[in-house]
Order: sequence, then C-alpha cells, then structure tokens
Amino acid sequence: MTRDYGGLRDPNAEYTMRKLSAEAMGVTAKRGGGRDVEITDIQTTMVDGNFPWTLVRVYTDAGIVGTGEAYWGAGVPELIDRMTPFLVGENPLDIDRLYEHLVQKTSGEGSVEGVTVTAIAGIEVALHDLAGRILELPAYQLLGGKYRDEVRVYCDCHTAAEADPEACADEAERVVEELGYDALKFDLDVPSGHEIDRANRHLRPGEVRHKADIVERVTERVRNRADVAFDCHWSFGANSAERLAGAIEEHDVWWLEDPVPPENIDVQERVTRSTLTPIAAGENRYRVTELRRLVEDGAVDIVAPDMPKMGGMRETVKVANVADQHYVPVAMHNVASPVGTVAGAHVAAAIPNALALEYHSYELDWWADLVSEPVIEDGRITVPEDPGLGVTLDLDTVAEHMVEGETLFDPE
Ligand code: MG
Repeated sequence: MTRDYGGLRDPNAEYTMRKLSAEAMGVTAKRGGGRDVEITDIQTTMVDGNFPWTLVRVYTDAGIVGTGEAYWGAGVPELIDRMTPFLVGENPLDIDRLYEHLVQKTSGEGSVEGVTVTAIAGIEVALHDLAGRILELPAYQLLGGKYRDEVRVYCDCHTAAEADPEACADEAERVVEELGYDALKFDLDVPSGHEIDRANRHLRPGEVRHKADIVERVTERVRNRADVAFDCHWSFGANSAERLAGAIEEHDVWWLEDPVPPENIDVQERVTRSTLTPIAAGENRYRVTELRRLVEDGAVDIVAPDMPKMGGMRETVKVANVADQHYVPVAMHNVASPVGTVAGAHVAAAIPNALALEYHSYELDWWADLVSEPVIEDGRITVPEDPGLGVTLDLDTVAEHMVEGETLFDPE
C-alpha cells in the first residue's frame, strides 16, 4: 500500500547508516528448499476494537502471507507504509537482520523508542507468522521451543461502580465463576471521595484506606480461586506508593502495577525495595535496552513488557532472558486483538519465566471473531501447533469493524 505524502520527499531515501539490506551486505536472498521467497508488499488495516488495533500483513512472491499486529498509536500505519520499500525484495526469513535494517533506516523517525518501535514490531510479528508458514513450524518453535503447552491469561476487570469495593468484589466473583479466569486485575487509581488535588500525586490517608479496602474485599472474595493484581497507572509519588504498598502487604496481592510514573527508575527502585508487595512495571518502556535497566537495577519484582508495543516477539524474549538472569518473572501487558494476543502466547510459551498474559477486552463481544480459531478458553490459551501464529484472520470481521476510511487487505 502506498500513501500519498503530498510530495514530501522520503527523508530516509538517501540516509545511510549501517546498511543492513541484503544487497548492501553482499548476501544473497536466494535459498533452496522452497525458501527462496521475496517480500512484495506490506499492508495495514486498522480495526475499531476497544483500541484501534493496527493489523499488518506481509505479502510474498510465493503467495504466502504473514499477519501481525502493531500496538495502536497515531501514525503507526503511516510509518509502516514508509518502511515497506526497505523490505520489498528481501527474504522474510532473515527476521533479525530485517528488524535491525528497519531500525537503522528509520532513525530519523525515532526508532529507539515510541511508535516507530511499535510499527517495526507489527512487521516483526507478521514476519514470524510468515516465516512459520514458509517453514511449516509454529512461531514458538522459531523462538527456541516451548516451556508450556498453555499460557495462563489474566483478565483485566472493570465495573461501572469502580470506586465501590463491594462492586469490585462482585465483579471478581463473576469473572472467576462465570468466565472461568483464575487470574484478575483491577484498577486502583479510582476516585475515593477523599481527593482534594490529584495532580500532586500525594495520597491522603482516606485515599490509602479506600484503596486498601478495595484490595481487601476483592482478594478475600476470590481467595484460593484467583490471583489478583492491581494497577495504579503511574499515579502516585514515592512516599504515597510506599504507604499504599505497605498498607496492602497483609493481603498478599499478585502484584501492584505502576504505582509511580515511569520515567524515574531510581524512584521505582526505592518503592520496590520498600515493600514485600510485589511491584510490576514495564509497559511504557521500549526494547531490551530500556527494560533491562528495570530488572538490573532491582526496580521491579515483576517485569511487564507489552510485546507489540516494546519491540516485538524476539525483543520480548530477550527481555525475558535478561529478567531470568535476575530470577524476575514476566507478566505480559496486552491490549491487542486476537492476532497480537496469540503472538504474545507464543512468546509466553517460549520463555521460562512467564507468569501470565493479559486479556483486556472482555467487554467486547466480537473480540474472538477476528480469527477463525478459538483463542482463550477457560482462562488459558492453548499454544497453536499450526504453522506461524496458527490463527486465520477473519476478513469479514475485519471489514465489518474497520476504522472509517481504512481499506481492507488485498486477498492472499
Ligand atoms: Mg498497566
């Protein structure tokens, strides 16, 4: 797909850093055994889910198509359009080289972090699906094989009465008993009625008591039936985070997520070291270079990368491997469609230290319709054994829910 940039010159057209195209490296893209394949096009279509899911397809001259998903974000489809010429003619099996090639070619767009990484990740996920289909192997096999046949999924829960501790406990009970999950997460950055000024990040005593009350009611209600995590969305200062984490220690939560803003790792470390409550963070950091510091500095008890946001499947495996050297488990943040979620499950299968993978769409009744195969059943994803990601995009569902103005993928 080619978008009109209104005559804007491609700033990367003459940009040369470390050239990692096959041509520049003097390597041949030709291979035997049915592996002489070239990328012919890359397309995106945004679907209006509970987030604007950005689906990516990589087309080849072999007629085999790979499907992936980038984390949502303004400009991601445009960035993928601009990356397409850098990959046309390349062999899609050289996933790592092509990934670094894109990082080099898009340095002007900021390929170290942010949406450019996210755009590259969407292509990288599609390349894993494509490579698996070419080689007739499930994607987890390309990542080194699997530690587990099924991946535990935790359900991000909401209730209209989010500030009512009893309503949260009722919803926890419903999700466990009716939807079959044994792992949950609730928001803890909800109004308590005691706030005077939320901008100063300081929790008043009544706010701490209210949050501790939510934690107590929810954990007591589903104790022995579910693990429960709580998310603070970067809301509090260090002292408030420490007081909150200390106040809920007796309830032994699964983890407390993002109690402080994401930028200052020193503060993150201070909070984590102050409490027995497990502290998780990581969804706002990119690539292994950023996430490794959280782990190496002891700033988290649990690291929480978002696979299609932080850089893709192999990049998440690299983070997990660093974390494993520090005996730190991985709880994968996830707000993706079934495509990105299944890709996350392949990663979670292939790393030793996977705790669980998030599911953030239980209020969207057509989430599972986006692919033909069942995905989450009884709070688990059975890791697919079919080639690639092992799921088939349902183009009718894509067409039905496309973001206005989007174009449906070309047929395979
Ligand atoms: Mg979070």
